[in-house]
This record gives sequence, C-alpha cells and structure tokens, in this order.
Amino acid sequence: MLRRILQIALDTPLDKLFDYRWVSNSNTESLPASLPLSGQLALVPFGKREVMGLIVHVKDESEIDDNKIRNVIAVRDQLSPLSDDWLALCRFAAGYYQRPLGEIMLPSLPKMLRSENPVSINRALKKISTPPDTASAPAAAPALNAEQQQAVDAIVSTQKFAPFLLHGITGSGKTEVYLHAAAQLLNTSSDAQILILVPEINLTPQLENNVRARFGNVPVATLHSGLAEGERLRHWLAAHLGQARIVLGTRLAIFASMPKLKLIVIDEEHDPSYKQQEGLRYSARDLAIWRAQQLDIPVVLGSATPSLESWQHAQSGRYRKLALKARAVQDAALPAIRLINMERDKPVEGLTAGLTHALQQRLDRGEQSLLFLNRRGYAPVIACDACGWVSHCTRCTAFMVLHKSEKRLRCHHCALELRIPKSCPTCGNVDLQPLGRGTQRIEESIQHQFPDARLLRIDADSTRRKGSAQEAFDAVHRGEVDILIGTQMVGKGHDFQNLTLVGVLNPDTALFSHDYRASERLFAQLMQVAGRAGRTAQKDGGSVSEVLIQTRYPDHPMYAALIAHNYDQFAASLLAEREQAQLPPFQYQALLRAEARTLEAAIAFLEEAVDGLAHPDVTLNPAMPAAMTRVANVHRAQLLIESSSRPALQAFLKMWMTELRGMKTRVKWTLEVDPVDI
Ligand code: ADP
Ligand code: ZN
Ligand code: ZN
Repeated sequence: MLRRILQIALDTPLDKLFDYRWVSNSNTESLPASLPLSGQLALVPFGKREVMGLIVHVKDESEIDDNKIRNVIAVRDQLSPLSDDWLALCRFAAGYYQRPLGEIMLPSLPKMLRSENPVSINRALKKISTPPDTASAPAAAPALNAEQQQAVDAIVSTQKFAPFLLHGITGSGKTEVYLHAAAQLLNTSSDAQILILVPEINLTPQLENNVRARFGNVPVATLHSGLAEGERLRHWLAAHLGQARIVLGTRLAIFASMPKLKLIVIDEEHDPSYKQQEGLRYSARDLAIWRAQQLDIPVVLGSATPSLESWQHAQSGRYRKLALKARAVQDAALPAIRLINMERDKPVEGLTAGLTHALQQRLDRGEQSLLFLNRRGYAPVIACDACGWVSHCTRCTAFMVLHKSEKRLRCHHCALELRIPKSCPTCGNVDLQPLGRGTQRIEESIQHQFPDARLLRIDADSTRRKGSAQEAFDAVHRGEVDILIGTQMVGKGHDFQNLTLVGVLNPDTALFSHDYRASERLFAQLMQVAGRAGRTAQKDGGSVSEVLIQTRYPDHPMYAALIAHNYDQFAASLLAEREQAQLPPFQYQALLRAEARTLEAAIAFLEEAVDGLAHPDVTLNPAMPAAMTRVANVHRAQLLIESSSRPALQAFLKMWMTELRGMKTRVKWTLEVDPVDI
C-alpha cells in the first residue's frame, strides 16, 4: 500500500502548511495510482468544508500524530504540476511581503481551477487541445529606426539575467521594441514564452489587437481581472501548458505559470497600478525583476517617465539604460507645452481665455481637443455662504461630491449617497453653492461656450457599464468627438490620430500634497497626457500640437522640466531631494496599518505593537493617524518602519510578524512592505 504525507498550502491566514495523508488503495476512486507531486492541486477536508490546496512537499512521515491526520480527497493529476520555479516565486513573495504561502499561491490561480468539481478543468483542457484555426497572415512590422534597433539587439543578445530600463519619450515606439524583441526570441526558439505586462488592459485593447495582428498564428493568452472565469481558466491553462507563446496581462499575470518563460516586459513601468493596494500588497514590477533573475532571463522596463526607483538603478548601473529620444513616426513632433498663468488670465467657468481661444481654433480646423481634469463629479463640495457649512461626509474624513445630473451628493470613499439638500442643514439658507470643478461641471461650461461642438466625457461615472469605455474611445477614434473631457482614464496609451490640443485644468493641488510621491506622479501623468497629442505627422498648414496647462504656480520647477520635456533633469532634482530627506529609493519602508472603532484604539494597538522593541538599523516611527483618518466610520492609524538596509528591515519584519500574529486584539491590522501610499 502506497502512503505519503503531503504538506499542503491552503488559503488561510495561518502561516503554516498542513499535513494530509495520501493512500493509493483507499476506496475513494478518484485517487490516482501515480504518486502525487509537489506543485499539484489537491482537494482536502478542512474543518467541515472541502477546500483546494497546493502540494508543496511530499514526505514519508509527519511529525503530527497519525490519528490527527486526515486523508486527501483528490489530487488533480490531469494537470501537469506547477514548476519549482513557480513555487519559488510564491515562496519569495510570501517571505518578502510577510504573508502565508497559501495566501499567495491559491488566490493567484483561476477560481475554476480551485473548484471542487474537476469537470470545468477537463472541459477547458479539451477545448484548448484543439486551438481554433486562426492562422492569419501576420501584419507587417515597420522597419525599426537606429535607436529602436539598438535596443532590440541589446535585449535579444543577452542570454541571461539583465534588467533593462527602456526610457523612451511618448510616441518613440517602445511597443515596437517589445514586439521585435519578442518576435526574434520566438523565432530562435520553438517553445519560448514571453510575458508582457501592461497597466490596464481594458483601457488599451489597441495593444492586444496589435499583438494579435502582428503575430498572426502565434497563440496569445491574456490575463486580467476583466475576464470571465471560464476564459480566465482557458488562458491560464494555455500559458501553463506552454501553448500560449505570448501572455499579455495586468499585474496579476506576474504569477502566471509559464514553464518556458524567456523574456518579461513591463510597459509603463512607473504606473501605480502595478502595485496591488489591497490584500497581498505586492509590486508586480519588483516581482518581475526577481522572477527574471531567478530564471536568468532579460526583463525590460519601459517608460517615458520611469519610477525613481528604476531610474536610480539605471543611474547606479544596476539596470542597463536604453534610450529612445525621438518620436518614431516621421515628422511627428513633440507637442509644445505652455503654461497659462491663471493669476493673469482669470478663468471664467474654469476656462482661461487662452485655452478657450485654442479650443476654438481646433474646432475651426476640424481637429480634436482633450481636456484633462483629474476630478470626477460636478463639484468636489457644496457650501453655504451664510454660515460656512460644507458637505462633509458623516462617515469619512472627506467631502461629499456633487453629482448634479443625478441630483446626488456622493462620497467617493464610502459610497454614501444623499439627495442634494434644498437648504443648508445648519442655517436654512437656500442658496447653496458648488465649490470647485469636476469633469461634469467642465462639460457644462464647454457646452455653454461651444454649443455646436460634439463633447464626450470619459471618467469612472460615464463608463460604469461594461464595454462603455471602449465604445467611448472608439467614437473618439472615429472622429465623432470634437472635445474630449476626461480624467486619467484618457491619459493612458491611446493613440489619437487627430488630437492636436491637450488642455490641463487645475493640476496644482498635487504640487502641495502631503504625499512625497505626488509630484513624481503628477509629472508622469502630465507627460503621459501631453503625449496623446501630436502623434501623427503634422498636416500642411495645421498647427503644431499644443499642451496648455492652467496653473497658479508657473514658476514651479516641475513645470519648467515639463516644458523642456526634460525628465532627466526632473528626476535628478527629485532624487537629490529624496536622498537628502532619506526617503525611498534611498530608504526601505514598511507600514503597519490599524483600523478600529476609535482612533485611540487604533493608535493604542500600534503603540503596543512596538512596545519594548528596538533594532539598531531600523527606525520605528511614532504611530500616527492616517491621512484619511476615517472611512465609513472606521478609524485608521499607521506606523512607519524604516531602514537604509533592506536585509535589516526584512529580518526585523520577520521577527515582528511572529509577535504581531500572537497579539490578541480586535483591531484589524495589515503590514505593507514598500508602501507607496502613506
Ligand atoms: P510609445 O509606446 O513609445 O509611446 P508607440 O509604440 O505607441 O510609442 O509608437 C508610436 C507610434 O509610432 C505608433 O503609431 C507606431 O506604430 C509608430 N512606430 C513605432 N515604431 C515605428 C517605426 N520604426 N517606424 C514608423 N512608425 C513607427
Ligand atoms: Zn448655512
Ligand atoms: Zn464617506
């Protein structure tokens, strides 16, 4: 009788593996005759439930009493096991982010793979074993320019671990570099796989279409949270079985099982969406570097405005810098960026005369304009002039935002909704005024000033329905829109052909944020949105593309760097500041967050958590209320831990986690390593 002990990772908050017994001749018929292997999924009893776990070790004996060990129900042996490399990636992530292994492994797998019933797996396996006949002629690739060619050569000639930072201005043809490098690798090896990560696939289906068209009959899988479960399973399996040669995905795809992975590409590597902001708060970019190093393959980080972390590594020589300095399309010029001083050119209904004039010009010429405003809703707050009342959310440290067309006040943090009060709740004054401007209010002003223009607003409110964002972008591409008004949703990756004006409204607030990363983000965002303009060759008699920024602080150095399109200069000045202030990337951080009924309870928990602790190389800062102190009546506090040594911080966190897990408390807490939102 064959008998083994399986150490299994389960998706539980308990930081341990669970022992189960596997017996070959048990009367459960679904048990396989072959021995189970690490990396296979196994259905096991857990309390009164049956749950799916992942076999991490196979042993002969357990340290636990035999009568306490339960039998495995079934091993999913129709599936080849997940590789040791994949297990190692999860183990690293678990260790680095201080989470139980099972909490990393299982949620990263498609839900249907984890279901009790194997029918869907068998069905999916069958379906992908006969891939649809898609053999279409691949679309022609443009000839690369010299800079692009150099970058491709550098990437494909490396046969081992090498991190590249591809720094290319917007429109310089970074995508072509990825695609050519991918094509060469696929040609030289019959089974190589390539992983391409993008920030938000839903917003950039153009890329997916380009990839599919370019590679004709090479199977491409996509992995992102917008897929239906069945699709997700099929795409995941195609990657796992080595059938998909290219996997295109969002941050979660960093955990894709790809047995023949030979290149990782991270497009727009600076984008904040590579950092997961809930549950396991991992950075897909950082994990990509680790994964590439472990597999000894190249990894390419591409951006027009790299994160300071990556830029610093490029400066120090740890990453190799590849630069694309010109726009790829002939005669496509970078847009001229100009500031409009709002102190001199006073805005009317949010628009300066300078911007209004430029909009009129574009309308006259039949060209498109984009107005960028990173604030949705009608107005961020309504107020009473008579007594000073403002529309605070009663549950959060935030204002209720006016959504005029829906006749609602909405809190964007806890989703509380109220009818707009007819009069001031405090003094009865009926004349309540909206303060400030959101996208809806700007839309109203534009409608007012340009009644014949065709407007389209794209923000989270206008695109709630599935597919509606895509429809909206298609309308812009078809030329059915004269003036597009949008939040950062419109900034990402779109190649608008007839867009010659970008107007930026009220970006100033980010310059004075409590968040030290705000100006880095603003610069990246503005560069990106500016990059939407002037992507095609200038037309005869047409205008040079322009970006007009309405600001009250025209002398701010961030704007000077922006006008000069000088990322290098801006990055250098920010890095100098960060080094002096001992902030990342010169310092490593972790944040312990606490949530409780009262602020006092949250703070008290944090103080207890560090009570009596000290470490020579780690700074434990005092507990503080979080910037958003209250959300949905939950009070939030945090405690920052810092060190100039990553190993010292990691060692401290490991020790600390054991203590934290042992604390008896009703406070909800989480530890985040490398936090970005402090
Ligand atoms: P980026 O990602 O760097 O902003 P893209 O990859 O979107 O730039 O390229 C911008 C435009 O330039 C696209 O329309 C692309 O098809 C075109 N392009 C890229 N490389 C070349 C090339 N070598 N010759 C001609 N056009 C190119
Ligand atoms: Zn009042
Ligand atoms: Zn609220």
